[in-house]
Amino acid sequence: MHNSQSIRFSISRINCFGSCFLSMSIVLLQACTSSVSSTSRVNIDTIASAVVEETTLEEESISEMEETFLQHQLIDVQTLDSSILVDLKYASNDNFLDTNIYGNIKKAYLQKEVAKKLAKASEILQSTCDSCRLLIYDAARPQSVQYKMWEKIKRMPVQQGVYVSNPAKGSVHNFGAAIDLTIANHRGEPLDMGTPFDYFGKEAWITSEDSLVRAGKLTREQVSNRRLLRSVMQKAGFRAIPSEWWHFNAYSRPKAQELFPIIK
Ligand SMILES: [Zn+2]
Repeated sequence: MHNSQSIRFSISRINCFGSCFLSMSIVLLQACTSSVSSTSRVNIDTIASAVVEETTLEEESISEMEETFLQHQLIDVQTLDSSILVDLKYASNDNFLDTNIYGNIKKAYLQKEVAKKLAKASEILQSTCDSCRLLIYDAARPQSVQYKMWEKIKRMPVQQGVYVSNPAKGSVHNFGAAIDLTIANHRGEPLDMGTPFDYFGKEAWITSEDSLVRAGKLTREQVSNRRLLRSVMQKAGFRAIPSEWWHFNAYSRPKAQELFPIIK
C-alpha cells in the first residue's frame, strides 16, 4: 500500500514537474514575444520550427548499419508485411555475446526477393493460425559483425564450426538471405520452442526431436511449435539447418554468393 501510494506520488510529482515546466516555458515565451515586433516574432517562429524539424530528424536518423543495408538495396521487411514482428536480439544484450553489437537498429532488412518469401510465410502462418505472427530475431548481418561473433565463439566451450559460420566465407546472413525467427502469439510473446534463441546445444537441433521428447528433454507441444514454424517457412521456399530451430536460409551459401554481394 505504502509502495503504491509512493509510486503514485512520484508519478504526480513528475507530471507536475512536466506541466509546471511547460507552463513556465509558455509564460516566458509569451513574455518574450509580447515585447518584440511582429518581424521578430516571425523569426522566433522560424527558429522554433527549425528546432522541431531538427529534433524530428535526429529521432528518425538511421544508423550506420542501416545505411550499409540500404546501399545494398536491402529492404525493411515490415514495408512488405507490417504484421511481422521484429525484436533484433543483437541490438540488445540478450544474445550469446551478452553485448549489443547492432546499436539502435529496430528494423529487419533482407534482400527484396527474400523479404517477399518471408511475407509469403507470414501469410501461410496466418491462414493456419489467425492470431500467430512471425517474430524476427535477426536478418541481414554485416560481415564485420560475423568476425566479432567468430572471435567470441572460439573461446566458448561449444562444438566449433557449427553455430557461427566462418566470416572469411561469410554466413548466408551476410548476404541478406537468412533469417532467425520464431512464432509469437496474439500478445506478441514467443511460443515455447524448447530452448531460447542462440542456445548452442543438442536440444536446439531439429534432427533428433523425437528422441529428445522420448528422453523428456523436449515436450510434444514444443516440437509441434517448431514444426509449425518449419512448415510455413519451407512452404514459402526456405530451408532449415540441422543445428538451430530458429535459422532459415532462402538460398544455399554458394547460391547467395552468386546472387548478392557480401555486406561488409
Ligand atoms: Zn541465423
